[in-house]
Amino acid sequence: MKSITTANLLVNGDRLNKSIASLASIGRLPNSGVKRIAYSTEDLEARTLVQQWMKELEMEVKIDAAGNIIGKYPGKNPVASALATGSHIDTVPCGGNYDGAYGVLAGLEVVRVLQENQIRLERSIEVIVFTDEEGSMIGSKAISGRVVRDPQYYRRPDGTDIQTCLKRVGGNWDKIPQARRNLEDIAAFVELHVEQGPVLESMGKQIGVIEGIVGQRRFNITVKGSANHAGTTPMQMRCDALVAASQVVLAVNQIGNTPGQQVATVGKMSVLPNAANVVPGWVEMSLDIRDLSSLHLDSLLKQLRIHLEEIAVTTNTQIRFNPCLHNEPALAEPYIQKAIALSCENLSLSYTYLPSRASHDAQEMAQITDMGMIFVPSKMGVSHDANEYTSPEQCIQGANVLLQTLIKLGKI
Ligand SMILES: [Zn+2]
Repeated sequence: MKSITTANLLVNGDRLNKSIASLASIGRLPNSGVKRIAYSTEDLEARTLVQQWMKELEMEVKIDAAGNIIGKYPGKNPVASALATGSHIDTVPCGGNYDGAYGVLAGLEVVRVLQENQIRLERSIEVIVFTDEEGSMIGSKAISGRVVRDPQYYRRPDGTDIQTCLKRVGGNWDKIPQARRNLEDIAAFVELHVEQGPVLESMGKQIGVIEGIVGQRRFNITVKGSANHAGTTPMQMRCDALVAASQVVLAVNQIGNTPGQQVATVGKMSVLPNAANVVPGWVEMSLDIRDLSSLHLDSLLKQLRIHLEEIAVTTNTQIRFNPCLHNEPALAEPYIQKAIALSCENLSLSYTYLPSRASHDAQEMAQITDMGMIFVPSKMGVSHDANEYTSPEQCIQGANVLLQTLIKLGKI
């Protein structure tokens, strides 16, 4: 009989997939989607279940001021900083079984398999369930020390204040600064997540080794023309804001299609006066542009501005460009990427390097510690939807990569 060593340790796939199914039954919708909005009754029920599982594993469970659930599986070395993994269990209003929940449950399965084989790593393992990832990301922001200290900022769409919400999940708004962590107590954070995009599936790869989470810039672009009668204003005498705006949309698309990994989108537009018989006088639109390199984003935005100035001249309009969001990229540490890639090789799983173009709690964790992320494929790239799907086999593969990566990183 082959003896169990940490090098050939595997998760119990059946148990992992059963735990994914049990959590997904909380907040189940008639269309087979899942609704577990942060702080809702369903979220509370799911949080209770996860804590119960942690306690069954004899993990030390605590809830910090931001309501994050932190389950600790102690390591051999009591003074060594911990290794952390985890994700979120809240969902969008009609989400699926995997977004977030998968990362938490795979983290728990890693602990289960270590515990049943009586293996302790040098470092403790913390499995963290971050509060409200889908809304404010207040859980991971509290850990990185980047919570906006204005409760109004976190007021829920239904009007509930953040103090009440945090109280519901065992947190305390007034003590939020105490939730902050640092490199001295968390040596590294590795998040396992479904890709939520089509890249891995289209490339036929089993695992994604994340290079980093892209930086994101958002702008509000306004185009000022002049509104006038759509019948009596001759074509050559118009200052049509929508004609200019249409050229802006094409310019943004062109920037997105230049060589590189960037994506650029105009996703929102409003037209005034928005009437069939009036030449549009005013357009307001959004620009969202993302890439792993800040320098590359700067250079693309410079090119875009020059192009927009030309459009303004040829269409006789004024185009303004106002920044409204600026998130710096969060890069994954090369040594963690290496540990993930090596784990894939040892498990004979195919992998590729790719950026994450969606936000994750890992981007906040990267502010305070070394960060890495593992992706598994999402069928047809679908996510934030009832049809989100990753096969049981793919869930097992990702969890094995997480297990082997944590074993490598946990040795100190
Ligand atoms: Zn997520």
